Amino acid sequence: MSASTVAAMAPALDVAKIRRDFPILDRPVYDRRLAFLDSAASAQKPRQVIDTIRQAMEEEYANVHRGAYWLSQRATDRFETARETVARFLNAPSSDEIVFTRNTTEAINLVAASWGRTFLKEGDEVVISEIEHHANIVPWHLLKREKGIVLRVAPVDEAGNFLLDRFEDLLNDRTRLVAITHVSNAIGTIVPVAEVIRAAHRRDVPVLVDGSQAAPHMRVDVQALDADFYVFTGHKVYGPTGIGVLYGRSELLESMPPYQGGGEMIQTVSYEESTFKEPPFRFEAGTPAIVEAIGLGTAIDYLQALGWENVQANEQMLLQYATERLREIPGLRIVGTARDKAAILSFVMDCAHPHDIGTILDRSGVAIRAGHHCAQPLMERFELPATARASFGIYNTRDDVDQLTEALLQVREIFG
Ligand code: PMP
Repeated sequence: MSASTVAAMAPALDVAKIRRDFPILDRPVYDRRLAFLDSAASAQKPRQVIDTIRQAMEEEYANVHRGAYWLSQRATDRFETARETVARFLNAPSSDEIVFTRNTTEAINLVAASWGRTFLKEGDEVVISEIEHHANIVPWHLLKREKGIVLRVAPVDEAGNFLLDRFEDLLNDRTRLVAITHVSNAIGTIVPVAEVIRAAHRRDVPVLVDGSQAAPHMRVDVQALDADFYVFTGHKVYGPTGIGVLYGRSELLESMPPYQGGGEMIQTVSYEESTFKEPPFRFEAGTPAIVEAIGLGTAIDYLQALGWENVQANEQMLLQYATERLREIPGLRIVGTARDKAAILSFVMDCAHPHDIGTILDRSGVAIRAGHHCAQPLMERFELPATARASFGIYNTRDDVDQLTEALLQVREIFG
């Protein structure tokens, strides 16, 4: 890509200003400028989120939903305001449809354990895809062991494009659920989930969407998608760890039994039996991640204030620029070249194992991921043990890409 093309694509995102909000980006690693290219694993946190959490703990902390005193009321208000922020973020009809979980993993396990155990029986089919994270495979394996359900796997082509026709061929009278990623964490493919959902709904099959890698990169509208369940994790949208989200259509959540039992989720308890609250509280046993939820609210406000068009323009520009630069490197092959791709770039080199690439890059201040990316079946499908993966967020620049390219040229020199 020529310099002028890149300049013409320059987005309206003030990345220099954004970078000043992320204190960690200023810290050198091995005396080198940090090029943080692992946001798909976990994103860094802006000062606004860090300050919110500190302020909530220093000034407005108490347990939620139970205290009769001012502080507890205040903490509850902030916690519930965060739930409303999440509902707006997903355009959910009601914040009662937002269940706070620990992360995406727990959100999917909740659906598998509660909805799955209740409504699935031996021989029922759950359709997933070849590009799922283990978090959207293993919970269904647990149900396979327990109930004898059958997993069907929708394929991608060599480039990583999701094959809608082949997916539709898998739907039949035994299909009870489609559980599908919105964006692949390993190769960046964007799945046409609106079409997937339309096809599933034609057969009255509900759809769970794993939005872990979509929520940081694009506007998600669960009503426009007509999703039945939509899940994401706080730490990838520039929020804290320990907080995740399950959106569930109200009729579905109301039909589901509790996932865990304990405090907060009951209406009454006697020695003989318990009765349960309505959703979402029915699914939030025990003390929740209070300040983490509040911090997630701030992260979402921060991200949305940037404007999705700007965020996407910057990330797509970086993806294109990085793709071009990496193609300059002899012996490097990009894994996953789907037409619709989020800013995630997986690659292998003929001269070095991804772990060696990761180690050399680290010494140059470049933080990338190397491994199977919790997507072992996908690695097998591409006949690779692992890949190296650079992923981009709101704070990344062309300088990060240039630093990555330089370090990869060094890998080439060292390993020949
Ligand atoms: N699904 C996808 C697509 C992911 O990328 C990840 C995180 N790598 C997860 C699920 C799991 O997220 P968490 O570990 O926060 O539960």
